[in-house]
Amino acid sequence: MTKIPRTLVRQTLEHVGEEVMVEGWVNTKRDHGKLTFVDLRDRTGIMQCVGFQKMGELTVESVVRLVGIIKKRPEKMVNPQIETGTVEMDVTRYEVLGSAQELPMPLDTDGYEVGEEVRLAYRYLDLRRQRLYNTLKLRSDFLQNLREGLLGESFIEVETPILTKSTMEGARDFLVPSRFQPGKFYALPQSPQQYKQLLMVAGIERYFQFPRCFRDEDLRADRGFEFTQLDLEMSFVDREMVMTTVEDIVKAAVKAVGGRIKQEKFPVLTYAEAMERFGADKFDMRTGEEQAKNILAFAWVVDFPFFKKVDKKDAAEMRDSKSGWTFTHNPFSAPKPEHEEWLLNGEHVGEILTTQYDLVCNGYEVGGGSVRAHTPELLRATYKIMGYSEEQIEESVGHMLTALSYGAPPHGGIALGIDRLVAILRGEQSIKETIAFPMTSTGRTAVMDAPSKVSDEQLKEIGLKISE
Ligand code: ASP
Repeated sequence: MTKIPRTLVRQTLEHVGEEVMVEGWVNTKRDHGKLTFVDLRDRTGIMQCVGFQKMGELTVESVVRLVGIIKKRPEKMVNPQIETGTVEMDVTRYEVLGSAQELPMPLDTDGYEVGEEVRLAYRYLDLRRQRLYNTLKLRSDFLQNLREGLLGESFIEVETPILTKSTMEGARDFLVPSRFQPGKFYALPQSPQQYKQLLMVAGIERYFQFPRCFRDEDLRADRGFEFTQLDLEMSFVDREMVMTTVEDIVKAAVKAVGGRIKQEKFPVLTYAEAMERFGADKFDMRTGEEQAKNILAFAWVVDFPFFKKVDKKDAAEMRDSKSGWTFTHNPFSAPKPEHEEWLLNGEHVGEILTTQYDLVCNGYEVGGGSVRAHTPELLRATYKIMGYSEEQIEESVGHMLTALSYGAPPHGGIALGIDRLVAILRGEQSIKETIAFPMTSTGRTAVMDAPSKVSDEQLKEIGLKISE
């Protein structure tokens, strides 16, 4: 085949009467005796191509190169369903670049009717659905807009380690055995909380990144072990300053990707008010009509209790607390200024309010953060309330206490759940629809079957033996 440059499907509209070459997937095929109709799909859309009988050999989802003349369709043959519906290609030559065997599931549907195991085992096929492409595209655009908003406010993007130490975000850690120091372990970060605070001590002042976070929690239909956050931290701020900055950046990015917001100024409710009005700290403020239109109703919740009694069924809480009291959100938070004395003296523990703020949208918690304890005294007091001895405090957060004793600015930040925000923007129920390769509900990876066994040699190298 003589090589002529590729024309994208959507561009064929501008080439009526010309010979062009298109490449893509056979979306559908219809045999009509001497003629074969192929709908060709590339990342820009779908177009009808009319070929000769031999093209009947093409299988659906094969990758082909077609050369032919672009023709205007007669008025009554126009297909208003597709963007290229006014034209079609009269195929003169074709080539199969990658042939497709019989598919394990239909791809010309939205995919909701197919079981998760099959969709994720063949995720590279599942992602060919227009719906999923559109979601990944919106996710990319949304991240780009958030990033631009933050850079515009003088934040800088900084990466932090993945192989690290236990971070105490209230979940179980994923552990990674060390080969160099057998018997010792790294933990995967539940969040970059401590590193971002260290960046504030380092004078970065305005930090963000889109980190992957890992939490070994019990799986639910809609929860995996890893998720993506927008994580940020700012110095020389109070609670209201962080909330205003975050609100402005989120609003601009949501609008830039076509999201519509119920209230420009996000309402602020106290935890007590939220519990009284909605019986929960996450709630949906939309009317039925707003729900149908997928309007986004954001709200802040503030003034949470700092501590709660440990839930004995929660392994991480049982491990984190030594006294029966544990943090509700984050052990690194500062209390509200008027409750600082109580915290320092370990008094009225159940009544101490934290500077925590949660961002709620359409019934989900989509983010949370706080102003931090930026003096060693405050952080130490929190751990004392949780029953830690001096040694245990040193073991657990000694590095933070040391860092805070070298001139730490007042600081605070937040983390937003990107997977959930994208799901809301796309009107998807499950965050798995927004992740290219999510895990199955049984905790197995998509396409590649992990977790999997490793060889005895590998185990030996890291000094581990599997007990029966
Ligand atoms: N590190 C917290 C989290 O991941 C968020 C924050 O307080 O900034 O939930």
